[in-house]
Amino acid sequence: KFITFEGGEGSGKSTQAGRLAARLREAGAEVVLTREPGGTPLGERVREVVLEAVPEPVTELLLFAAARAEHVAKVIRPALSHGTWVVSDRFMDSTRVYQGMLAGVSPGLIAAVEYESVRPTFPDLTLVLDLPPEVGVARAVQRGALSRFDAADNTYHLNLREAFLAVARSEPERCVVIDANRDADAIADDVWRAVDERLLA
Ligand code: C5P
Repeated sequence: KFITFEGGEGSGKSTQAGRLAARLREAGAEVVLTREPGGTPLGERVREVVLEAVPEPVTELLLFAAARAEHVAKVIRPALSHGTWVVSDRFMDSTRVYQGMLAGVSPGLIAAVEYESVRPTFPDLTLVLDLPPEVGVARAVQRGALSRFDAADNTYHLNLREAFLAVARSEPERCVVIDANRDADAIADDVWRAVDERLLA
């Protein structure tokens, strides 16, 4: 099964992806834990380039899509075909939100590029970690991980939150929203409950 974590800055995606992978392994599953932007040597190079530069939205879309196509073809799909679980810290919904809904690339282009780079390997379950932006932004600033954004631009981060929630609402059969404004143990319990109910039951 293929599980993705999505959400705004400082929402705890990396922590929760790691904890879920560990819990699945304890339950006897083989798990590949991966991330985007990144996930392959090419993808990690794209990540570096894009996060250093300030590319045009369409440039960013196409570079991230190129990295995603490699990630899906070389890492995700082979793992799934061997019965290995895949847990990814961000995936296509980040592109819908950052390059699409926030940066304004047209929905048609976002959808076409997503389809070509991902199909037929869409996530079975997407966990959207939701929290008030000021909480997440403060966490991200603390660990120096907010270089791309103006931490003070609260409107941007509010829009980001709403955009992730809109994506989740548009595909309720795939997406579960989790209240991430709690301690990591409580969030991990909800994550596990969602996985159990949707994929293990
Ligand atoms: O989640 P992580 O911190 O690794 O992401 C790195 C940066 O890339 C974040 O600031 C995130 O907002 C940005 N990003 C983006 N578009 C994507 C994926 C990530 O702007 N499609």
